[in-house]
Amino acid sequence: MDQTLKQTLLDAIRTIPDYPKPGIQFRDITTLLGNPKAFRRSVDELVHPYAGTNIDQIAGIEARGFILGGAIAHQLSAGFVPIRKKGKLPYDTVRVAYSLEYGVDEMEMHKDAVSSGEKVILVDDLIATGGTAEGAVKLLRQMGAEIVAACFVIDLPDLGGRKKLEDLGVTVRTLVEFE
Ligand code: AMP
Repeated sequence: MDQTLKQTLLDAIRTIPDYPKPGIQFRDITTLLGNPKAFRRSVDELVHPYAGTNIDQIAGIEARGFILGGAIAHQLSAGFVPIRKKGKLPYDTVRVAYSLEYGVDEMEMHKDAVSSGEKVILVDDLIATGGTAEGAVKLLRQMGAEIVAACFVIDLPDLGGRKKLEDLGVTVRTLVEFE
């Protein structure tokens, strides 16, 4: 990705210090989503290696992964699978506990959302410790999905999430980094 585009995306992301708790620099992508050029180019950049390949499903992590994932699913003519915090999905689910940069939680996916052997791309806005994405990888693999890649707009490399996913054998694609 060229440096001008990278800078456009960095400039479109707002940083909120000490949110949701002291010491966290919250990288807010609502400003990127509200910027037509930055939103479109983010989606285009994330998907271009997979254009023309057969991706069955995009799995988006609640909530910002839904926005990016929906756009990516449309672009790749794939389906969309929501991975949600526990208790939000109406049908039978598979569930996994996961750890966050700031807490612990459980996430779920409908048990029939992905069929064995389907090619899936996992999407979220940001990877930090990788705990959230690791939980999603476990759910998808439990259902027999083949995870083609995990895509994020933002990587916080100091927190080690990319390495955690790569150690699980997942290809990781990110667009910009913050220290
Ligand atoms: P992690 O599980 O540590 O990789 O955290 C990733 C998840 O938490 C993603 O769903 C992010 O949206 C959110 N998140 C974690 N840290 C931040 C941060 N510094 N700024 C914005 N979102 C974050």
